[in-house]
Amino acid sequence: MLTYEDSRFQIDLPCADCAGLGQTDHQIAHDVYAVRVCDFCDGDGFNTHEAAYDSIADASVDYPNAIEIREVGGVG
Ligand SMILES: [Zn+2]
Repeated sequence: MLTYEDSRFQIDLPCADCAGLGQTDHQIAHDVYAVRVCDFCDGDGFNTHEAAYDSIADASVDYPNAIEIREVGGVG
């Protein structure tokens, strides 16, 4: 079975640490919260993964929660 025809895809997934908000609340004292830019997504609210699949449909099976899946040019 040939696998060389796979294309590479970038999959944007909601950041699990900030629930896609791009920032997180930290309780620093009783009734006092500080908002910080999320360290995991740098405030973007999502993280981009890259993987090889036959098609976007194939990728979406593994990433049902993806915000966006796009094909990236094959790099040799
Ligand atoms: Zn985040």
